[in-house]
Amino acid sequence: MSRCLLCEQLIDRRPTWQGLLGVEKIQHLCEACSNSFQRADIIEEGEILDSVHSLYEYNEAMREFFHQFKFLQDVALADVFGDDLRDILKGKKAVVPIPMHPEKRVERTFAHVDELLTRASIPFGQLLDKTSTDVMGEKTREERLAIDPLFKLKEEAVIQPITYTIVDDIYTTGTTLKQAAAVLKEAGAARVDAVTLIRA
Ligand SMILES: [Zn+2]
Repeated sequence: MSRCLLCEQLIDRRPTWQGLLGVEKIQHLCEACSNSFQRADIIEEGEILDSVHSLYEYNEAMREFFHQFKFLQDVALADVFGDDLRDILKGKKAVVPIPMHPEKRVERTFAHVDELLTRASIPFGQLLDKTSTDVMGEKTREERLAIDPLFKLKEEAVIQPITYTIVDDIYTTGTTLKQAAAVLKEAGAARVDAVTLIRA
């Protein structure tokens, strides 16, 4: 018996043929918690950023999940969407998580996107460095973005003419993903797709 990672109720498991064969996926959530997330599979296409595939809608359950995962740092929750991320990133050769600024990383103690991938056993390479924090100065976000790009290529990074898949937790305005895609494209990437857990 296992317990739901969100509400800690015991998970009631009926025997299935997958269970008998030992190939059943581990259930991390009870049925009620699992049903509270709204799968969306929204795919949007663009130019610099060739496509974005967002897996879930940003509903109340997702808001609570992220609060607990990111801010209360309940790292075990990274397992909740592990199977989904593994399915969607299967066969992708160059997976690049959106990096967190080092100062923010100290504050939060862990890089949540890296953690999602690590816990799902998805190989990835960190090719980008974050150049600015989101919380400084009196300028508006737009003014800052016009002056400072959000990312730069890591010094040791070598970009090949292949498809890169960037991964982030949430797709809101798209600024973050587009800037990351632009850096990779300028360095020679043939195509840049993105996968995000949520579309806000
Ligand atoms: Zn539950």
